[in-house]
Amino acid sequence: REAIQAKELSKVYPNGTVALRDVSVTVNANDFCVIIGLSGAGKSTLLRCMNRLIRPTQGSIALFGEDVTRVNGGQLRQVRRRVGMIFQQFNLVRRLTVIENVLVGRLRFNAHPVKRCLSMFRQFSKAEREFAFDCLRQVGIGDLAFRRADALSGGQQQRVAIARALAQEPEVFLADEPIASLDPRSSETVMQILARIHEDKGIPVLVNLHHIDFAQRYGKRILGMSKGELIFDGTARDLDAET
Ligand code: ADP
Ligand code: ADP
Repeated sequence: REAIQAKELSKVYPNGTVALRDVSVTVNANDFCVIIGLSGAGKSTLLRCMNRLIRPTQGSIALFGEDVTRVNGGQLRQVRRRVGMIFQQFNLVRRLTVIENVLVGRLRFNAHPVKRCLSMFRQFSKAEREFAFDCLRQVGIGDLAFRRADALSGGQQQRVAIARALAQEPEVFLADEPIASLDPRSSETVMQILARIHEDKGIPVLVNLHHIDFAQRYGKRILGMSKGELIFDGTARDLDAET
């Protein structure tokens, strides 16, 4: 089954930069796929078109068979809920606790009003809190739940971001340079967590990386991009043969 189907995507930014040229790619439901390419190749633009953070200039995007190219408003929020997104800079709410950041993962998409005067934690039911703790335990940081997000190391913050994405119960995971700001050891941990989520939950994962060694070790399928075009689609072994 197809998780994401991108057809003939082009993206021209308002300043005239052509970031994608006619990219067609299908991400299957069983894919753990890594996109490699130099900085500026268009990797991040492709991911941001796929969860509709941005709208492609031309072409179409389907999520599990449903065309989402032109949705907006509440439907757009639904699309973003279905796609768990992880960023290089974690994008946590720094002054909130870890568990609150995970709860935000549910809140963002539910239009559940937050009362600013109350602790966010107390506004969630016991079941919702338990679910959030469980997401933290899945990334191995259940013990950090009540620390402030900005008191954690980079690797720990990225694990919180993954737990937050898990809390939205996504159908697919997209990760935009998730290890680019991390040391080698945390990078390994984060990649292992993504691989395990893929294996255990059967969630398709698409990761942008510029480290070719990580790509070859973790990518069951590798996509290569250059200057806005898709120039390679194969296994790590195929890539070895080509270079
Ligand atoms: P990558 O993720 O491979 O580094 P990007 O998708 O970030 O590539 O960028 C592709 C090209 O689009 C680059 O030339 C980049 O400078 C440009 N670009 C990215 N975002 C914007 C933007 N918001 N406005 C204009 N140009 C952009
Ligand atoms: P968002 O805030 O939705 O993620 P932005 O367009 O602000 O999107 O930035 C996304 C990425 O594109 C950033 O990494 C930024 O460095 C890059 N970018 C933004 N504007 C430009 C631009 N005019 N030229 C090149 N790269 C850009």
